[in-house]
Amino acid sequence: MTQDPYVSLKQEMIEKCRLLEKIGYFIGTWGNVSVRIPEGFLVTPSRVQYAVIEPRDFVTVSLGGTRLAGHCWPSSETEIHRAVLNKKSDVGAIIHSHSPYATAVSCLHQSIPVFVEDMAQIIGGEVRCTRYIPAGQHKEIAAEVGNTIGEENAVLLANHGVLCCGRDLEEGLVASQILEKAALMMLAAGGAGKMFPIPEDLVKSERYRFLYKYGTAHDAP
Ligand SMILES: [Zn+2]
Repeated sequence: MTQDPYVSLKQEMIEKCRLLEKIGYFIGTWGNVSVRIPEGFLVTPSRVQYAVIEPRDFVTVSLGGTRLAGHCWPSSETEIHRAVLNKKSDVGAIIHSHSPYATAVSCLHQSIPVFVEDMAQIIGGEVRCTRYIPAGQHKEIAAEVGNTIGEENAVLLANHGVLCCGRDLEEGLVASQILEKAALMMLAAGGAGKMFPIPEDLVKSERYRFLYKYGTAHDAP
């Protein structure tokens, strides 16, 4: 039997899924993860509990939507991952979760502006919300997510949840946590008065600094 070249990547995906379940972003099997590979992408399977999932349960799907490998059905939300991976060539990993505060904002059908600099750096812009589309309409919701997400690394799915991306899984996780924090801040402070977003040009320059200078001599104090 040939060795699976993606075993360690799948192990990392399992660890992230278990962490997301532990911090309450995934409940049961509601939540899924994908990672881009040369053949297309790896995605978590449908209806397999993260407590018992194994690397062999993951599914390989092409960017055209063909199931290439795996004995399970891919996540029912695979089309959403595929739409974003096809649109955003810089994205290497995606986390779709139902984290509570971001999902709460998705029920308001509102965007989350960039209020703090970590959001400018990791997410790179205001996070918009899709129109409401029932979760069973897989192709329609994927098209809506693809149309709504821009250069920023996240999108709210109305009355449903959130999708965050990164160049790798770790960055996707951090984006998910930063967006959840931003949603919490918006809900907590929004009632106290007008909140002031960071101006657009400064959001862009912070994003640029994070991508190309952060942690190098160019960003030394
Ligand atoms: Zn979902």
